[in-house]
Amino acid sequence: MASEKELARLVTADPGLPRPNPTQSYWQHIPHRLANVRSENLPSERDYVIIGSGITGLSVAKTLLENHLTATVTVLEARTLCSGATGRNGGQMAANAGEEYMHLAQVHGPEMAGKIARFTLRNLKKMQDLIEEYDAVETTEMQRLEKLRVFMTDGKFEDFRKSIARLEADHPSMRGIYKTINADTVLEDYGIHGSSGGALLPAGTVWPYRLVTKVFDALLKKYPGRLTIEANTAVESVEHDEENLTPITTVYPYTLHTSRGLMRATSVVYCTNGYSGHLLPSLRGRIHPFKGTMTVQDPGTSLPNQGKSVSWGFHYPPTFDPDTKRHGYGLYYLGQSAKTGYFYFGGENTRMDEAVSADDSFVASHSVSHLQSVLPRFFGKEDEASWKLVSSWSGIMGFSSDGLPLVGRLSSALTGRRGEGEWIAAAFNGYGMANCLLCGEALALMILGGKVNDWLPGAYELVEERLRSILTPPEAVKALSSKL
Ligand SMILES: Cc1cc2nc3c(=O)[nH]c(=O)nc-3n(C[C@H](O)[C@H](O)[C@H](O)COP(=O)(O)OP(=O)(O)OC[C@H]3O[C@@H](n4cnc5c(N)ncnc54)[C@H](O)[C@@H]3O)c2cc1C
Repeated sequence: MASEKELARLVTADPGLPRPNPTQSYWQHIPHRLANVRSENLPSERDYVIIGSGITGLSVAKTLLENHLTATVTVLEARTLCSGATGRNGGQMAANAGEEYMHLAQVHGPEMAGKIARFTLRNLKKMQDLIEEYDAVETTEMQRLEKLRVFMTDGKFEDFRKSIARLEADHPSMRGIYKTINADTVLEDYGIHGSSGGALLPAGTVWPYRLVTKVFDALLKKYPGRLTIEANTAVESVEHDEENLTPITTVYPYTLHTSRGLMRATSVVYCTNGYSGHLLPSLRGRIHPFKGTMTVQDPGTSLPNQGKSVSWGFHYPPTFDPDTKRHGYGLYYLGQSAKTGYFYFGGENTRMDEAVSADDSFVASHSVSHLQSVLPRFFGKEDEASWKLVSSWSGIMGFSSDGLPLVGRLSSALTGRRGEGEWIAAAFNGYGMANCLLCGEALALMILGGKVNDWLPGAYELVEERLRSILTPPEAVKALSSKL
């Protein structure tokens, strides 16, 4: 097992810039025509510069443009449009509030834990609304369905049941969202073998790359002149002009050094997720990258297509193999294309140094063969040859030491700069589809001076107490160790 010292080294390492040659995600196998979008010349001065073109960057850009009628906005993206986690995830729209509730209530109290649960459920509804608003149901292959969480041991099932019982006792309005079912029903109705029980919750599946690129496309058309997107433009560093005051630097005090030259901004918004620690060294160990592996597997005609009605999560106690030093991190996630029947299957079985990594330029070959060997077993097909591998790739998530997103203004203590115009929304801990849209919206409204504390959970904000107590590198080490 990785020592605490090794874990501390991994979580505090510089994640670096997004790698220029990522593995190809199936979601991006037909690139959007805006994949390499950029202006002929990098704009020189903008009100708001957003770093990162995933779903969080999209949400911040959209909210700023809609609520500030003259603001100029530029989105800078190191690689192609939406090529980070949003373009390489599992496509699951599901909340994890139920299974996390007990822990959240213990740490933050029942009121805040309930607020977090409601926020994620509202965010999922917002995802579906956005898809409908942009007429993207067909192109994103969005399905409204039930997610079946399957618990592979009695202990996991019992912990889940206790968590749901407490959620329902503390918040009667959330009764009935989760329906627990026994192992026989999991097998007979859903064909899943070897479980101790399961739970159903309202959820969905989506092709996130197609959603984000489609909405960016619409925003470019709606706000010509006010929005530019600069793909293949990495931000290498950010500076704040403190002494050299001129009419330009007074209005645009930030200088961004990019791979295409300099640009100036009034405010800088980091939607850089697992890479945030590169530009913001004080966040290393508070946010760390976590590399995920995805496969697309074709079960052929061996199983009925359930892609319109259900998606799955498989929960098991963490494992460690002393020979290979590989950890199993406790979760596999699975969706099925209603069109092709392909399974989208992800989960980690890797050494710790492979998991706490920001390098998505390769997929460890054993990760793929592991996912190929595990998936048929859930359907009682372990004796068959592996299903055809259609695609495999890796992607970088952002994890925080306390398991919650970071949303808000970055203080001078965090940036090392005097200005007050740097902001962040990052670290969605593997549940971006349940958090990013509303976190991005909240951040943009905060930037514009709005109040969001009646709906943004205070536990997501960058308050001093959080930074001192639970958002720290030692807590990140503790959180990782507790998962092993
Ligand atoms: C394998 C995998 C499976 C997942 N499955 C699911 C799932 O099924 N359901 C779910 O809810 N969530 C899932 N997630 C998590 C989810 O995808 C993320 O939480 C979410 O997409 C984060 O969105 P984002 O916009 O904050 O970050 P990203 O989409 O990662 O966007 C950040 C962007 O910033 C850019 N960037 C970073 N640094 C710089 C820089 N210095 N200069 C310029 N650009 C920069 C990156 O290139 C990137 O495009 C998964 C993630 C992975 C990797």
